[in-house]
Amino acid sequence: MTTVAPFESSDTGPVVLERQFHENNVRLTEAGLYIFRPSSKKERQFIGISEIFACELVKQQKICRFVAAVELQIHAYVDVATKKATNDQQREKIVLSLKFDGETAMTDAKEWEQAIVKLCCTLSEQKFLVFINPNSGAGKAHQIFTESIEPMFRLAGVQYDVKITERAMYTHDYVRDTDNTSYTGIIICAGDGLLYEVVNGLVARRDWPTIAQRITLGIVPCGSGNGLVATMNHKVKGDPIINAGLAIIRNNTSKMDLVRVQTETKTIHSFLSITWGYMAAVDIRSEAIKSWAGNARFTIWALKDLLFLKQYKATVSYLPHDIQNDAPFPSNLTATLSNEWITVEDSFLGVTAAYQSHLSPELHIAPESTLNDGIIWLLLLRSSLTRYKFLSFLLKIESGTHLKEEKDPDIQMIKCKALRIVPKCTDGCIAIDGEEIPFGPIQAEIIPSIAKVYTPSVLEQTTTTTRTKNL
Ligand code: ADP
Ligand code: MG
Repeated sequence: MTTVAPFESSDTGPVVLERQFHENNVRLTEAGLYIFRPSSKKERQFIGISEIFACELVKQQKICRFVAAVELQIHAYVDVATKKATNDQQREKIVLSLKFDGETAMTDAKEWEQAIVKLCCTLSEQKFLVFINPNSGAGKAHQIFTESIEPMFRLAGVQYDVKITERAMYTHDYVRDTDNTSYTGIIICAGDGLLYEVVNGLVARRDWPTIAQRITLGIVPCGSGNGLVATMNHKVKGDPIINAGLAIIRNNTSKMDLVRVQTETKTIHSFLSITWGYMAAVDIRSEAIKSWAGNARFTIWALKDLLFLKQYKATVSYLPHDIQNDAPFPSNLTATLSNEWITVEDSFLGVTAAYQSHLSPELHIAPESTLNDGIIWLLLLRSSLTRYKFLSFLLKIESGTHLKEEKDPDIQMIKCKALRIVPKCTDGCIAIDGEEIPFGPIQAEIIPSIAKVYTPSVLEQTTTTTRTKNL
């Protein structure tokens, strides 16, 4: 039996395994690996379980018939404690090597490997279908996948197939028409637009209800907005790309609400937002200047539309979230609404329905929203709002402080379950998850927790580990 040096602290939680590696002591608990190095300046180090993405036995040198030396490599992306108190979080890739020797080296190493794998819940039975959109954002989706995500997949030993999208709607048609029973997850290396295609392609299948339970959706941020990724990462440390890889490998999942949107011609499923009026125009119409303005197109268009503010007349109805309502959702856009619905007829600068906290990293539109709260956060901006107040409101969205001040009657954020917008004007802009649809009446209802997504977990502990370690 290996002698174990006493650990400095007793607050590591229940011990799963503990062992002496030369002069260093390593303790495995449900929270992670504690490494105690009496001879080092950084005496105590920690690798969180949620930071480990692979664990493999790599060397097996047979010294004699009974004695072997075995090395267990533990691969992790640790959160680097930055000296500056900035929001720029980084993750550093490290390999911790635990060297076992003696007669029971192999048995001991396997015991550690199994204990770590069990705690990590890494399911090697996972198989992914990965879509890469070469057209997303700055066009780096393929590079991001091969340089950051694929090496993690390989080390973790997960199986995956890769498809490069060939045109718009490629993923929609592919997931709608192709057998996907061998996959546990569909991963997109792209922006929100590609996830919108995947969701709607899957919903179009007859077996969608079973697929919704079986397949988890993953998104590696490579697009220009990536509102869903911003939502999942704003309370989490680390690089969103690596966080996505860790969440996928670790099978870290969460339920997610979808919103069923009915237009005059079709039904669409949405995971992010419905924007109508000002916000939609800034998002969609600014595409026209994308070639020379890049991402500055949003600011330029936002200022232009602020100078020449358009007003949109509409009837907006909503079913408040806290109302118990057994009446079925109206079957069509002209069906009478039940008594619990509230109707507002007015002229608006815009209407936005958000079901994620962020529509992009800069648009922290519904700060209290979570992935599966079953709430549509409906923002009504009346056209009686002054240009100055509107600008001040827009400038606060990035920090999510736009709703904190005393209530302005022209700005309302309402929690609801369903909504209907009937325009009383002919010219305007509507976007669902950032994709434009024809301007006209729409109605929408939330379907709580219907989809599953890979999502990073909040890291509680700060890590102070450095580089590769051989123990
Ligand atoms: P971004 O965030 O930059 O908009 P997305 O990944 O959301 O990036 O994709 C934007 C659009 O690109 C989607 O609407 C999708 O239909 C389209 N698309 C996907 N693959 C291709 C391709 N190979 N060529 C052109 N467009 C594509
Ligand atoms: Mg939500």
